[in-house]
Order: sequence, then structure tokens, then C-alpha cells
Amino acid sequence: MVHKRGGNGDAEGKHAMARTQAGLSLATDRVVTLLGVTVPVAAVVIAAIMTWNRLMTWADLAIFAGMYLPTSLGLTVGFHRMLAHRAFEAQPVVRFVLLALGCMAGTGDPVRWAAIHLEHHARSDRDGDPHSPRHGFFHAHMGWVFPPSFDDKPEIFARAAVDDPLVRFFRRTYWGWTLLSVAIPYVVGGWTGLLWGVGVRMFFTLHVGFSVNSICHTFGRAPYETGDRSRNEWVLGLLALGEGWHNNHHAFPRSAFHGLRWWQIDFSGYLIRVLEWLRLARNVHRVTPQLLESRRIT
Ligand SMILES: [Zn+2]
Ligand SMILES: [Zn+2]
Repeated sequence: MVHKRGGNGDAEGKHAMARTQAGLSLATDRVVTLLGVTVPVAAVVIAAIMTWNRLMTWADLAIFAGMYLPTSLGLTVGFHRMLAHRAFEAQPVVRFVLLALGCMAGTGDPVRWAAIHLEHHARSDRDGDPHSPRHGFFHAHMGWVFPPSFDDKPEIFARAAVDDPLVRFFRRTYWGWTLLSVAIPYVVGGWTGLLWGVGVRMFFTLHVGFSVNSICHTFGRAPYETGDRSRNEWVLGLLALGEGWHNNHHAFPRSAFHGLRWWQIDFSGYLIRVLEWLRLARNVHRVTPQLLESRRIT
């Protein structure tokens, strides 16, 4: 009897410890998320004041662009089109570089990123969508990132990513890559390098990405029937390197190209075309003209 009570006590102790650890990790998650969204805003304010006072240099802009473009392509081409939707297969070194750049964008490890995104596609604008404007524009934009408003379920939504040893490597080393994305601008440009290459860059990375979830599910045109609120918005088509053609994407999620007309600028799609031409990408998924026309509603 005593032994049994002791056993229950052990179990209780383990449960209490698990609850404490879960509480701590949730608290850590909240603090990291809060810092992640507020520090870039402060950086943009400081950068705007410096620009107003003509203290911004071409070197600052070069550091910003030199960090923003590659890391954003890591997200759009690497995490989104290659990993989450398997829109193409990349040669191993290219795959490594794309996943490393995606981690350096600082918006979450590849498994978590893919799981949240694929849950969005599976439940788009219905119950369970992590970031639908059904629950308000602010929720769709950034309110949803504050835990526990979402619960990434990698085993359900990103099984292929969970099972991939290279992706697991990047999940384990995610914070190391994030640190590298801070160290590079500091080494190149000192404190102003940090301001533009980390702070301002993170502001754009976050809010351009958030805008695809909020603006591209609220404003713009919907040429294809998708059963959700996804829209094409050309400004985000440019800023988000092609991801703003979001109605196209929801209609044809596996297409490597989100710009489906010649005038729909899609920088991420252009990179995939170049990789394919260099034989560094293969099995690139395309939508046939017949399928394109059959799904068209406007
Ligand atoms: Zn969407
Ligand atoms: Zn997608």
C-alpha cells in the first residue's frame, strides 16, 4: 500500500514537473515572441530618425538588402515552396543553403513553420485555421503568434518534414543560424549593421509575411475558386517576392510558381526557374493551361 502510494507520488511529481516545464517553455515562448515583434519596431523608429537626420548611408541599405533578400528567399523558396508544398526538389547543397537561409530569417524552425503553414492550408478560413481574418484583421496579421493561440502539430501537418534528417538537423540548430544572422551584420557594419541588418530587416520580414496572412485574405482579387478568402494583391506580390499572388497559391498549392500570368511578378518563381535551368532543381510542379482555365472564375 505504502509502495503504491509512493508510486502515485512519483507519478504526481513527474506530472507536476512536466506542468512546470510546459509553463516555463510557454513563458519563454511568450517572452521571445514579444521581444521578436517589439524590438524590430523600435529599430524602425530609430532608423527613421537617423534617416531623417541624414545619418543613413548606402552601406546601411546594402546590409539591409543583403540580409533581407537571401533570408526571405530562404522562407519563400526554401521553407514554403520546397519544404511545405514539395513544389520542386533541390540538389542537396542547394537544399542545405535554402533551409539555412530560411532559419536565418528568424521566423521559426522549419518543422514548426511548415506545420503551422500546412494547417492554414488544410483549414483555410475555417475552424482551426491558425491565422484567419474571420477572427479579426489584427489576429490574422500578428495576434495569432502569441501562444497559446495556436498549437503547431508537426506529426499531423508536417510529417514529411519531421521524417527528414536534414530538416531535423536544422530544427536542432535553429538558434545557431538565427545567431549567425545577427553576427554577420554586426561584423560587416557594427552597431548600425545590427540596426539595419537585424532590426529593420526583421520588421520587414515579419510584417510582409504577416501581411500575406492578413491582407491577402482580405483585400485584392480572387480569379480562382478556392473555397476560402484568399486574394491576389500585387503590392505584396512584389514585397513578398511572389507570395502575394495568394489566391493563385491556394488554388494550386503545389505549383512552384505563384505568379501564373506573365505580368504577375514572382521573384521566388524566377529563382526556381534559374535553379531548374542550372539543373540544381528538378520535378518542378507546374499548372497546365487547361487546368488554369478550368478553375478560373473571373
Ligand atoms: Zn493563405
Ligand atoms: Zn502555402
